[in-house]
Amino acid sequence: MADDCFIKNEKLYQIYRALGISEAVYEYGEKYCKLLKPRFCEMDRVAEYNQMKVLQAMQKNRVSEVHFAATTGYGYNDLGRDTLEQVYADIFHTEAALVRPQLTCGTHALAIALFSNLRPGDELLSPVGKPYDTLEELIGIRESMGSLKEYGVSYRQVDLLEDGSFDYDEIKKAINEKTKLVTIQRSKGYQTRPTLSVERIGELITFIKECKPSVLCMVDNCYGEFVEVIEPSDVGADLVVGSLIKNPGGGLAPIGGYICGKKEAIAQAAYRLSAPGLGKEVGASLGLNQSFYQGLFLAPTVVAGALKGAVFAANLYENLGFRVIPNGTESRHDIIQAIEFGSPEGLIAFCKGIQAAAPVDSFVEPEPWAMPGYDSDVIMAAGAFVQGSSIELSADGPIQPPYAAYFQGGLTWYHAKFGILKSLQQMVQEGLVQINPVVIH
Ligand SMILES: *Cc1c(COP(=O)(O)O)cnc(C)c1O
Repeated sequence: MADDCFIKNEKLYQIYRALGISEAVYEYGEKYCKLLKPRFCEMDRVAEYNQMKVLQAMQKNRVSEVHFAATTGYGYNDLGRDTLEQVYADIFHTEAALVRPQLTCGTHALAIALFSNLRPGDELLSPVGKPYDTLEELIGIRESMGSLKEYGVSYRQVDLLEDGSFDYDEIKKAINEKTKLVTIQRSKGYQTRPTLSVERIGELITFIKECKPSVLCMVDNCYGEFVEVIEPSDVGADLVVGSLIKNPGGGLAPIGGYICGKKEAIAQAAYRLSAPGLGKEVGASLGLNQSFYQGLFLAPTVVAGALKGAVFAANLYENLGFRVIPNGTESRHDIIQAIEFGSPEGLIAFCKGIQAAAPVDSFVEPEPWAMPGYDSDVIMAAGAFVQGSSIELSADGPIQPPYAAYFQGGLTWYHAKFGILKSLQQMVQEGLVQINPVVIH
């Protein structure tokens, strides 16, 4: 068995060499593949559980070929769309779901959930610090046309404590007679706070409901789906929101978002998405249903592959002396990995390597560029089948200290692995790192 493996290893290296990976980089990666086997095995078990969860929901709802038929126009009686929403509701264990191509991205799904469930005079609370960048304009933290603020919805924020824990005293004080909805972001996004486990989200929701039972708890679940065997809706969230070009689309959904939750809250969202009186009844699926179903079916394994890539990268780069967030041994609650390179050259080389590993646009060289909304140049690497899809292997980072690359995705573990090896190869070639002997944790 061992010999057999070794021969296959030689064969495997031949093709890596043909793709520009040196023996030293390859062997360095192989050592970590071996070391990380028990963790990868754990991730496979989570994927197995989630695969069964998805399968069970599809079987229960008798998913059939008819559900893949396209509707056009108003989309009345779109059986595939309505059944898909029931499948999502069953997976997330919620009363209802809204899963639509008309939810154009994650921010849009969050906007619909918020605008539909808040009214003038209500207050929105974030008890986990500053939300994701795009939500600043949505809420009106940054002055913006059409924000919640413009509609008379106020906003309060309680930051996490220094050690990343919840500031329960301040949260209690912040909840008042106007507080209608609490938004909890699971993923750290592009911040340095830790990502919240579903269990911790549950503790927070329990506390908030004790303070004020009528408050709606919404979780921004972006990048978190299928990383654990439970979702925020299993621990009391009234609304769970995410993007289909991240985890639950499995790389196949070409657009879309989802909102799962309480029947009443989902009805509100549907009336906001289309129009009062119309709600869920309209919204043609335009032939996208099959990719939504099939992507959802693949999502648990795709997420496991992306997670392996994140942990692999954390370990490889941590051992080379870079600060990685989360670190190589921490438990995972989303698929984002940050690596601080400490120099623009390091960050740029890393992104070049990720780009060079892509199935699409591998011949393109990413360069730092001025982007709207950023005060420094930003470099981005993405060679994706779906534009901007970040369940596909992608990386970006602002050219400013600490020169951190944020990377995520990989439709398969093998591609994620190759991307990371390629990034390391690029760094080695530019003389930015030397390969160290492996330290066993
Ligand atoms: C990606 C993301 C969003 C926004 O999603 P878009 O599809 O980019 O609009 C919101 N919150 C978090 C935590 C995200 O990761």
